[in-house]
Amino acid sequence: MDTRTLLSDALGGHRLAPGEATFLLKATGRDMFQVLAAADERREATIGETVTYVRNQNIHITNICKNVCGFCGFGRPKGAEGAYCDDEETVREKVRRAVSRDVTEICLLSGVHPDFTLDTYLSFISLVRESARHVHIHAFSPDEVAHAAEKGGISTREVLSQFKAAGLGSLQGTAAEILVDEVRRVICPRKIKTAEWVRIITEAHTLGIPTTATIMYGSCESERDRAEHLDILRSVQDSTHGFTELVLLSYVHANTRLFKDGISRTGATGREDLLLTAVSRLYLDNVVNIQVAWGKIGTKLTQMALLSGGNDLAGTMFSDDVTADSGGRGADYLNPAEMERMVSDIGRVLRQRDTLYNLV
Ligand code: SF4
Repeated sequence: MDTRTLLSDALGGHRLAPGEATFLLKATGRDMFQVLAAADERREATIGETVTYVRNQNIHITNICKNVCGFCGFGRPKGAEGAYCDDEETVREKVRRAVSRDVTEICLLSGVHPDFTLDTYLSFISLVRESARHVHIHAFSPDEVAHAAEKGGISTREVLSQFKAAGLGSLQGTAAEILVDEVRRVICPRKIKTAEWVRIITEAHTLGIPTTATIMYGSCESERDRAEHLDILRSVQDSTHGFTELVLLSYVHANTRLFKDGISRTGATGREDLLLTAVSRLYLDNVVNIQVAWGKIGTKLTQMALLSGGNDLAGTMFSDDVTADSGGRGADYLNPAEMERMVSDIGRVLRQRDTLYNLV
């Protein structure tokens, strides 16, 4: 395979196959820069020079989690040191604080508490809705949908319908990690399997609930696994067009069980971060937005990722305990003024957006 020819074909409309993406993900030296440049060209043609961000606030309600995934330093069992679960008044206070910060999105990000029921999840939606009438609620993963369905003795489709009726604006495409079951058996054995993730996401899209797509990379998977993951996302998008963006989540290793037990690597390298951004842009010809998670890779590498196919800077966040507890630093808040400095430095234009990518 020749990198130059393959990239030229891709820019000409050829849809990459998993084997070709695997080849590109292994690029080094000048070949790597060719991949990044091709992705930047595709980004320019697809979305132009605008870099977007959303003014949002993460709210963590509990870190108690039945899954205790090996790649995560945030979730812990009930009764473990540092385990907490907010009461209603505390959640209300967090919502009030978010509203005072003028956010357009509240993102509920918690562990999968074993005692949470369908009614618990519905009450969280109502609670946010009461205090923040016009804020978009972006919440819950397909794994939480499956948990609510099991607890409530109803189908995942019915759970999603009830979430939507209660005021859910969009579902999180988290819990995807790497959509290869052999990898999932190592990094998140208690989570739903690949086929179930795809089924629930497809149900959400069919019900008119948009979702993000995510990939959590750099722990134990190979380049081929990353390519297979992208292939699944592209197929889903072909049939539903329900993904708003791909969120690239680089593994933060320091406080995770997988790393402490010597099973995972120390995370992706900068070369891998940039190449996955670029190959995602080239592979997902049906996903307009490729989001760079500054909290995971730092603001300097984020600038480079925006030159490698990325076009979105995620959100202000204000809090990201998931990354912080896993050993990440500076992941809580990025001031839009700093975003502006980063974006103008590379000759692009920063614009605020809402969750669904309408410019604000
Ligand atoms: S990644 Fe999510 S499901 Fe897994 S342990 Fe962390 S909080 Fe729980």
